[in-house]
Amino acid sequence: MRIAMLAPPWIPVPPPGYGGIEAMIALLCEGLVERGHDVTLLAAPGSKSSAKIRELLPDAHDEAIEKARYEADHVARAFELIELGARSGSPYQVIHDHCGFTAFAMADRVDVPMVHTLHGPFTPDTCEFYERHAPKAHTVAISRHQRSAAPPSLRVAGVIPNPIRVDDWPYEPDKDDYALWLGRMSEVKGPHRAIAAARMAGTRLVLAGPVQAGQEAFFAAEVEPHIDGDAVRYVGEVGGDEKKRLFSLARALLMPIRWPEPFGIVMVEAMACGTPVIAFPEGAANDIVRDGVNGFLVDDESAMADALRALGRIDPADCRSHVAAAYGVPAVAAAYAAVYAHAVRTGPPRRWTFARAARLAAKAS
Ligand code: UDP
Repeated sequence: MRIAMLAPPWIPVPPPGYGGIEAMIALLCEGLVERGHDVTLLAAPGSKSSAKIRELLPDAHDEAIEKARYEADHVARAFELIELGARSGSPYQVIHDHCGFTAFAMADRVDVPMVHTLHGPFTPDTCEFYERHAPKAHTVAISRHQRSAAPPSLRVAGVIPNPIRVDDWPYEPDKDDYALWLGRMSEVKGPHRAIAAARMAGTRLVLAGPVQAGQEAFFAAEVEPHIDGDAVRYVGEVGGDEKKRLFSLARALLMPIRWPEPFGIVMVEAMACGTPVIAFPEGAANDIVRDGVNGFLVDDESAMADALRALGRIDPADCRSHVAAAYGVPAVAAAYAAVYAHAVRTGPPRRWTFARAARLAAKAS
């Protein structure tokens, strides 16, 4: 199959540091190429893949993440390239889109079926958006919890978790004496709650991750005052071998999240290294963490501290084998290939019509 894989414009694929969506796209492209598909990756400059790469904008824009201008420009250029493909006699058969909202909303403007991975949580705002544009593309949810929150009119072809190549991650059963929190410095990800839990348990904590635009005030008020270079260390954004070493030597990864986490690939990365995950039971944490087997699901900071004291009950080998069985690249690529085939059979998207807009308006009033 000839596939146009539309990555976001912010970060190259694979990401040098932060970048869950880009990491997922990197592995999926490799898996699809291994299965014999002809994949073109439309992505930020600096991307590397065994798929063919087409860079659309002159620069990557991680500093401007989610700024509409770059995303709109990137998607418009992708659509032009896809139409040129059709006119030159080698059309793409399917577009696989990871680009936030822009491409999904415009999916009926290209004559190629679109599969859109739902990378974000459903909120009242995003539900309204997806309901409005529902017939335009097929969607894939990345966790059972995310799918259960989808508006009924959305065409969800299935739940396909994000993949990991377990052999890329070092398995380490002998742990150091720290717990790890790793992610973007956002309130919903709970670095401040990780600090509270680690303090209650008397466990050293390492925090890693970027302070993205808009997160400075939260970081300065809730996180920075606790950093002392010993009980609480902050190592900034990490990547490559340093990130793998942090994951593999940690006694546990702490996920005191307070949002419907759509996936949370850090949980899978930690488990691949034989590191248990202690998470609040939000969103995909309920899919990924098996309480008492590869970590613990706990309700608050104090229960998280209790779980830190109970880590002896978790076998690192169980963490690793759980991930190898559930999130391997070949299984994920095969599942996506089946969704592409379904989208091709169903044909190009239904166009937005005035009749449909009138029906929606009548329903809303
Ligand atoms: N990440 C990284 N370096 C950092 C912080 C995060 O490489 O300093 C990576 C992390 O390993 C994961 C991704 O960024 O692959 C975050 O993805 P996740 O699904 O956990 O969170 P979200 O997409 O919600 O930020």
